[in-house]
Amino acid sequence: MTMEKFINGLMAGMTLEEKLGQLNLVQRDYFTQEQIQTGAVLSTGAEEKIRAGKVGGMLGLFEPDKVKKVQEIAFTQSRLKIPLLLGLDVIHGHKTLFPIPLAMSCTWDMGLIEKSARIGAIEAAADGVSWVYSPMVDIARDPRWGRIAEGSGEDPYLGSEIARAMVRGYQTDDLKREDAVMACVKHFALYGASEAGRDYQTVDMSRIRMYESYLPPYKAAVEAGVGSVMSSFNDVDGIPATGNRWLLTDLLRGEWGFSGFVVSDYTSVNEMTHHGLGDLKTVSSLALRAGLDMDMVGEGFVSTLKQSLDEGAVAMDDIDHACRRVLEAKYKLGLFDNPYARASEKLAAEKILCAPHRAAARDAAACSCVLLKNTQHALPLKKTGAVIAVIGPLAHNRKNMLGMWSVAGDWEKAVTVLEGMAAVAPAAKLLHAAGSNIVSDPVMVPKLNIWSKGVEIDARSPGEMLKEALEKAAAADVIVAVVGEAQDMSGEASSRADIGIPDEQRALLRELKKTGKPLVLVVFSGRPLTLGWEQENADAILFVWCGGTEGGNGIADVLFGDYNPAAKLTATFPHHVGQIPLYYAHKNTGRPFTGKFPDGGDFATKFKSRYLDVPNEPLYPFGFGLSYTT
Ligand code: BGC
Repeated sequence: MTMEKFINGLMAGMTLEEKLGQLNLVQRDYFTQEQIQTGAVLSTGAEEKIRAGKVGGMLGLFEPDKVKKVQEIAFTQSRLKIPLLLGLDVIHGHKTLFPIPLAMSCTWDMGLIEKSARIGAIEAAADGVSWVYSPMVDIARDPRWGRIAEGSGEDPYLGSEIARAMVRGYQTDDLKREDAVMACVKHFALYGASEAGRDYQTVDMSRIRMYESYLPPYKAAVEAGVGSVMSSFNDVDGIPATGNRWLLTDLLRGEWGFSGFVVSDYTSVNEMTHHGLGDLKTVSSLALRAGLDMDMVGEGFVSTLKQSLDEGAVAMDDIDHACRRVLEAKYKLGLFDNPYARASEKLAAEKILCAPHRAAARDAAACSCVLLKNTQHALPLKKTGAVIAVIGPLAHNRKNMLGMWSVAGDWEKAVTVLEGMAAVAPAAKLLHAAGSNIVSDPVMVPKLNIWSKGVEIDARSPGEMLKEALEKAAAADVIVAVVGEAQDMSGEASSRADIGIPDEQRALLRELKKTGKPLVLVVFSGRPLTLGWEQENADAILFVWCGGTEGGNGIADVLFGDYNPAAKLTATFPHHVGQIPLYYAHKNTGRPFTGKFPDGGDFATKFKSRYLDVPNEPLYPFGFGLSYTT
């Protein structure tokens, strides 16, 4: 039977309530606020609702026994036995975590990126997941925005290639495969241009910039056959994306020919009330008419669309179209044939964190390290004969290895930099001290510990910590300082106005510099940082982002020269936040500033496009990255 015939038959027997149920994506309801929710929790009593046919999919549930349990309720206890979509944020791997997406993009290696998505899909599918909220393809040119970590940087061409590679990796060419999952390209659209880099902020841009710079990666994902699209939180041309008919229907379906379904972001239907567009009933009907098919967690569709239909604010056709698209997704995934195929204890035990997956993650971690500076042959380090002081709050810090969005990841499985170094160079003498906290500001710490609890304050005083670090440094031939951002300093809702190395770590670096020993920096971060002091004072800088489960091993491979670093930046690093947005593909000014004195000093000239206090040029441009060769 064809898909159309099958779904026609099914829909012919569905009540209005059951059709609306398919448009309802609920959150698993036994997580606590801290563990998983990204917004207000509105869906409760999921089990009852599934039984009553009021649920189309569930977000956040994984592991075979749990998935089978809810799928069984839908498939055997609901009237029409329609299976559920099981959606999860698999962003850079499932349980074997790869480096964060921004790091992966610096490999420029489409084969490797596709493989990382494939491995994520294999593990997630074994764990019962059929639908992943990735790839995130938002072009980002403002490193204050924490979600720059989740995408592929500033360039639309590269972003488009990566979008295609990831869709292929997740979906394969046959979505029915037990190890294939449906991808969901997000956040449609322009979310990365959030004003002032503050998350969930408004966006305003010209059509020409949209089409040239921001839309291509979403379009590429559509061309690659992505099964679903997630609407974004922001406005597009003054109308929130989730209720924007031009965006979701005219452009996406009309111009681009997208035939899958569109899901809202987490409560983004409800949030249109804050945007000033009316009460829940009004915004829900606006979203449906705009072309939104599924409502993530907000329950506006199930609770108000019947009344809107009675009042003539939406048409039965609108509801039917949305319901059909959701059912089609389930059909394409083979869920009607076997809703349990993807939840396999056997495969989960075999595949999750298996040696080949970990090896691929280690390779990816090494391939994504960007060498920003290397003088005096500071790197690679010698494996024998040298005493190495491995200093810094991130040197042996398991809780900050995986990176933001590692929902299913277990931080205890991660390898730290110190462990990786000890494994790669067993004959090297390694001395270790934390030297400082990552951050200790009592206002900042609780904000960073909402999810991962990754910022632990040492019981010792800063003076004691520093003393220990300086003693170790004094006894060493070279210092490797592992510093930077805690993993939750970037990612969703983690914008920063000052994107430097946190103060206490910078203070530690200044003291280490005073020892006069060669100083190698290993910098963790989810975004480009302002590293002016570091560039001037360190002998070498290896920018390692957040390397995932095997991060410590991959970084050690680079530090000791088993892997020759080759990654190149995909987002510009400014000297100063005041230069932002700073990106390579900018248009020309009519008054370019080109003046330089022969000694490198600036011309004292007026009426040119320049700052008085900082240069126009970036600290490290797009595409920058050294290697150990000359
Ligand atoms: C994020 C999405 C994510 C969703 C579900 C939202 O807050 O913006 O990227 O997929 O939550 O977890």
